[in-house]
Amino acid sequence: MNATMEQRLRDELHQFRQDGIYKKLNYIDSPQAPRVTMEGRGQIIILSSNNYLALSNEPSVVRAGKDALERFGAGTASVRFICGTFTVHRELERELAELVGTESSLTYVSCWNANEGLFATLTGPDDIIISDRLNHASIIDAMRLAKSISKCETAVYEHSDLDDLKAKLEASRNKRTRYVVSDGIFSMEGDVAKLAGILELAREHDAVVVVDDSHATGVLGTTGRGTAEHVGVLGEVDIITSTLGKALGGAAGGFTASSAALTDYLTQRARPQLFSNALPCAVAGSALGAVRYLRSHPERVTALHENARYFREQLLARGFKPLEGETPIIPVILGETAKAIQMSNLLLDEGVFVTGFGFPVVPKGEARVRCQVSAGHTKDDLDQALEAFVKVGTRLKLI
Ligand SMILES: *Cc1c(COP(=O)(O)O)cnc(C)c1O
Repeated sequence: MNATMEQRLRDELHQFRQDGIYKKLNYIDSPQAPRVTMEGRGQIIILSSNNYLALSNEPSVVRAGKDALERFGAGTASVRFICGTFTVHRELERELAELVGTESSLTYVSCWNANEGLFATLTGPDDIIISDRLNHASIIDAMRLAKSISKCETAVYEHSDLDDLKAKLEASRNKRTRYVVSDGIFSMEGDVAKLAGILELAREHDAVVVVDDSHATGVLGTTGRGTAEHVGVLGEVDIITSTLGKALGGAAGGFTASSAALTDYLTQRARPQLFSNALPCAVAGSALGAVRYLRSHPERVTALHENARYFREQLLARGFKPLEGETPIIPVILGETAKAIQMSNLLLDEGVFVTGFGFPVVPKGEARVRCQVSAGHTKDDLDQALEAFVKVGTRLKLI
């Protein structure tokens, strides 16, 4: 190992610890669930996972993964276009398209890859991508990649500011294709994109709308079909990307859903499709199990919505000020990063795991603990977590 480089890494890691931004890994020794065994302690209430529908450990989902593992073996040993496409991919992609209301879909090993594969493949030098300021890191990096590969232009509009989006659209009238891209649910704020307004503006300007629904698939809408269902525009979004690793927590992976022509084009051209192995069959199998579970259990989505409403309401009743919203992402703003980390540590002492986020993940002075509620939380789980919040909040003089 190069000693100069090694020393530089050590110095920087030391600085992370000094600044209180060093992330300690917490090892879980049980399935991901509303309560887990973490760092050797049992019954820790998890209020920070993306396991919104508690499907990670749902028996039929786990069985679907095991069945696929036994039927198709462990690895795909190939990229899709050579010999890495299995029948389970076809079934999963058909059912994902049906779920989110598009003609077709195409899976990747992550939504990160789906986003990188999308813009870099579709755009050319006469195109522009117009992005919400608070979009996910994978969209930001996907835009950087597209810009360097295809020489397209990029622009950023202020968060959920439709006037600013309109201005950016008007300023780019001369472009061949204008893409407008937004998260469905914004992960740090927990708010929902103004999708109806975005679609209306995009239609006026003949622009293409891309929604990354990673936090919303399985979460929003009465049957969990995502932001489009929630807003009443199912089937109207041009391109949806999403993850299989959040509410569809049976698995990992991601997908792009759109017209058959678009997903076929990506199959032919997207570099992560051409040069990276296909989604493992066991993972595709458990994801398919999760999609089927969701379709036959809309009550799971209702339970999630009710738990989110209850937790938000009860935090308010106890004197906390969570950001307003209607999603299961419930951030409580605390200000300084050190305070968020301290709150998170003290909550863990009380048996509740909630992550604190500070700069640079969120703006300076807006550090927060971000609660994420699951359909699997019982009222007891939530009440116990609320008690811990009151105890720690009182100690830190937050309430
Ligand atoms: C979590 C998330 C991703 C990443 O999904 P992976 O499948 O884990 O790569 C992408 N986009 C958004 C908006 C997300 O919230």
